Amino acid sequence: MAQAPSTTAADNEKPAPPTTIKSFDASAIDTSADPCKDFYQYACGNWVKNNPIPSDQVRWARSFSLLQERNRYLLWQELDAAAKDAKTPLEKQYGDFYAACINTDLVEQKGLSPLEPALQQVADLRDPHKIATLMGELDGEGAPGPLFRFGIGQDEKDSSKQIAEISQGGLSLPDRDYYIVDNPHFQQIRKEYVEHVTKMFTLAGDSPETAAKEAGAVMEIETALAKASTSRTDLRQPENHYHIYTVADFQKLAPDFDFSIYFTDVKVGHFDTLNVATPNFFKAVNELTASEPIDKWKSYFRWHVIHGSATNLPKAFFDENFAFFGKTLAGQQAPLPRWKQCTSLTDRSLGEAVGQDWVKQNFPPAAKENMDKLVAALEKALGDDIKTLPWMGDETKKAAEEKLAMFRNKIGYPEKWRSYAGLKVDRNDLIGNVQRSAVFEMQWDLSHLGKPVDEKEWGMTPPTVNAYYSASQNDINFPAGILQPPFFDNSMDPAVNFGGIGVVIGHEMTHGFDDEGSQYDAQGNVRMWWTPEDRKEFDKRTDCEVKEYDGFQVAPGANLNGKLTLGENTADNGGLHIAYQALLSVMAKDGISPTSEIDGYTPAQRYFIGFGQVWCENTREQTARMRAKTDPHSSGQWRTNGSVQNFDEFGKAFGCKVGQPMMPATSCRVW
Ligand SMILES: [Zn+2]
Repeated sequence: MAQAPSTTAADNEKPAPPTTIKSFDASAIDTSADPCKDFYQYACGNWVKNNPIPSDQVRWARSFSLLQERNRYLLWQELDAAAKDAKTPLEKQYGDFYAACINTDLVEQKGLSPLEPALQQVADLRDPHKIATLMGELDGEGAPGPLFRFGIGQDEKDSSKQIAEISQGGLSLPDRDYYIVDNPHFQQIRKEYVEHVTKMFTLAGDSPETAAKEAGAVMEIETALAKASTSRTDLRQPENHYHIYTVADFQKLAPDFDFSIYFTDVKVGHFDTLNVATPNFFKAVNELTASEPIDKWKSYFRWHVIHGSATNLPKAFFDENFAFFGKTLAGQQAPLPRWKQCTSLTDRSLGEAVGQDWVKQNFPPAAKENMDKLVAALEKALGDDIKTLPWMGDETKKAAEEKLAMFRNKIGYPEKWRSYAGLKVDRNDLIGNVQRSAVFEMQWDLSHLGKPVDEKEWGMTPPTVNAYYSASQNDINFPAGILQPPFFDNSMDPAVNFGGIGVVIGHEMTHGFDDEGSQYDAQGNVRMWWTPEDRKEFDKRTDCEVKEYDGFQVAPGANLNGKLTLGENTADNGGLHIAYQALLSVMAKDGISPTSEIDGYTPAQRYFIGFGQVWCENTREQTARMRAKTDPHSSGQWRTNGSVQNFDEFGKAFGCKVGQPMMPATSCRVW
């Protein structure tokens, strides 16, 4: 089909085969930069200069983005083939899901009609006491209800139990600060947000006057919810998101909101107690349901029904949504081409269906064996590190070693795949598919209530370029998507692989011992297993990192938040230390000399360059500002420089002098 020229079309409308990504890229290095002054500039300078951000991206990272694009392309090939000629029932299911998404003609034809039932439910709201019923109807039908989040999770103090949990929600902007902080940047965004909401209501058929009034109501309610919300930084502390209530006491907290109706509507099984993550939020919701007139609530819910489906609506809605949430908020110049949007949507909705076939093509059994070896080398290095820590007493060391010994490793993909039986997919009904998938996911989540924990379940889909540590399960998880070049390349020397996937493994392991993870014991329960003296020493060391990263700037006038990013920074620093120790052991065993060179670099230099080149990136300023508020990870520049300047082996590897920026006289070290 011929594409009409469009000013908003992305550069890569048509799928193109991905290039392979080098694990060690000499051409990325800026040899004119001094590694001892700014190592990120040295390792990445040329790459950063020569790789501008494609118009459909907000951040362009040498490793993460390129690999994500590669994995997405390979996934698209599968989806496209299945959509045209499905050979198995599974292929039919995900092929039809993709086909419904890619069919924009049908999306245009249907207009807002797929949202009619949800919009009618909102229109029928007559009484603030019925908001609970409305939330239940919306969540129960996959619309989904915006006001709060309800689901099942492990009890933080008895990780063998799966219990009901309810927590704050209800916002459209990326963080509570966007509603609250009074500076020109946020004031401008708030103004444009209200204009955007007004336009969306107008597109939905309201008069400009009505739309403006409705948008004002949305802003008022969301601002009140933002003020009642706990900050991301505070939520990192387990004691700030763990409050066990009986259902009766929880109901007393918000007497005007009938939770029993909500629980019935979403079809959750019986429970007597639940974790109310953010009690103050629910008190505030109660006050709001009593104080705000019903028309404002209708505007609020009407907005969320439209906004929640905006990317799956006709072009006029899609474009207006992109203009604000893509361009204004994130600085993105053009939307992702439809094939990318639909591939990612299918991965999110049917991840373990598509993933089963994806790993057959992209993750050979040998890769799993190699990873097992690497993980074992890293575990040993972390164990040795704990044994030799000068600031930790024997009692705490014993508990830390016990926790490390209990780590479980999940590599590549689930041993047992989830079933999507019962999820109806209709080739001609995109929004219906998304809603049925949301209901299916919620029912799957709610089915965990009261059951034993299934340690074989995964929280990420196989093609995902990421990894995670779960404190409640005390396990580290590496999807097949990240176990590829440039993170892991069998043809490379160990130094480069340890700087890539080795640091990633070390990072996830260190999460078990960062400021948050260290509050959970070997069984995944929140319990203080530290002696008070050792904990004091630990806090001293993490405070050093908080202050250090607070000082790193990501955009004019915007610095990292040292407390929000503390866990990730600790994991970055620890990962770099222990992967280096693991590399030294492997080199000793394999007889690799520390002075041997490849392409003019010693193993230590190749290790650090390999690590630095994981983080080469260009980011749009709006996105850099947003991430500083919302992302617990530091930016690539500081993930690199922050970590190497805290590690004296780096300065030694590059012949730096004490006192130079990358080899300061005093530095921070936790693990
Ligand atoms: Zn992390």
